[in-house]
Amino acid sequence: MPFLHRPTTLAEAVDLLSILDNAMVYGGGTAIQILVKQGILHADNFVDLALVPGLRDIEAGPQGVRVGPMVSLRRMETDERVRATVPLAAAAYHHVANPRVRNTASVGGNIAHGDYRLDPPTALLVLGATVEATSVRGTREIPVREFFTGFQQTALEPDELVSAIRIPAQPAGSGHRFEKNSSLGENDWPCASAAVLVTGHEVHIGLGAVAPTPRHVTFDARGLDDQQAVDAALEAAEPALDPIPDVRGGVAYKRALARVTIEDAVRAAWKEHRNG
Ligand SMILES: Cc1cc2nc3c(=O)[nH]c(=O)nc-3n(C[C@H](O)[C@H](O)[C@H](O)COP(=O)(O)OP(=O)(O)OC[C@H]3O[C@@H](n4cnc5c(N)ncnc54)[C@H](O)[C@@H]3O)c2cc1C
Repeated sequence: MPFLHRPTTLAEAVDLLSILDNAMVYGGGTAIQILVKQGILHADNFVDLALVPGLRDIEAGPQGVRVGPMVSLRRMETDERVRATVPLAAAAYHHVANPRVRNTASVGGNIAHGDYRLDPPTALLVLGATVEATSVRGTREIPVREFFTGFQQTALEPDELVSAIRIPAQPAGSGHRFEKNSSLGENDWPCASAAVLVTGHEVHIGLGAVAPTPRHVTFDARGLDDQQAVDAALEAAEPALDPIPDVRGGVAYKRALARVTIEDAVRAAWKEHRNG
């Protein structure tokens, strides 16, 4: 049976991670509980962050938001400051699973989980968010664009924890859209998800579930009309599409669904930007 440690300061939490054998951070536990029951995950020690003060704080200002790792996904979709400052991120958190999962799952646990199908990283990629990673050596910033290093792998060291996520404010007048398509059920993991941000002539697209890691693509839309922008988006995204076949669909199906998802998201974001 693994030990559950409940530190009451961040310093104590990182100390525990540095000295304990085979230790893992325990956030909301929604992923950990399932993986332990399935016999996939074996940890000797869990370091639970629930009692560490300050980790549920959301700081918001004109530059953006700084979100503590124990903020629930539900708060990310409902907090008025998050919705006003980074509406694309709020939309992506809103689409994770179901209210039960969103009420329990944490922002830090979501990104640290590292799954290629996660919805929120699509928005964090296009918004240029950064992860604060803390260990006994101090705190460093990792751009989300460099965070997902391989299939189920992240840039976190084993003794580091996510101590915050910083999301820059969405530029005024930008257009945005998050779209997600699932094949097994409305609240299921996606076959394809896309977060799109149109700012000036730049279009950023974050893609989930379409490749072994979340992907980010961008293109210059200067001088393009509505249909040309969609065509350019599909062309830019094509090299990033490398779906993994599974129970939710084969490669051809997932590739087709990815293209539909991208087209819908780009059309909506483009229209909002043009009308804004
Ligand atoms: C039924 C179901 C459906 C789901 N569907 C979706 C979906 O459609 N879209 C989607 O995006 N996600 C989906 N998820 C995944 C869900 O988003 C994750 O389970 C959740 O975000 C993980 O957060 P948590 O706080 O519960 O993490 P935990 O379960 O506590 O931890 C997950 C991982 O992150 C690590 N970790 C936790 N906190 C930190 C931290 N602060 N620093 C470093 N490492 C940490 C843990 O050690 C572990 O490796 C689904 C999950 C379930 C159970």
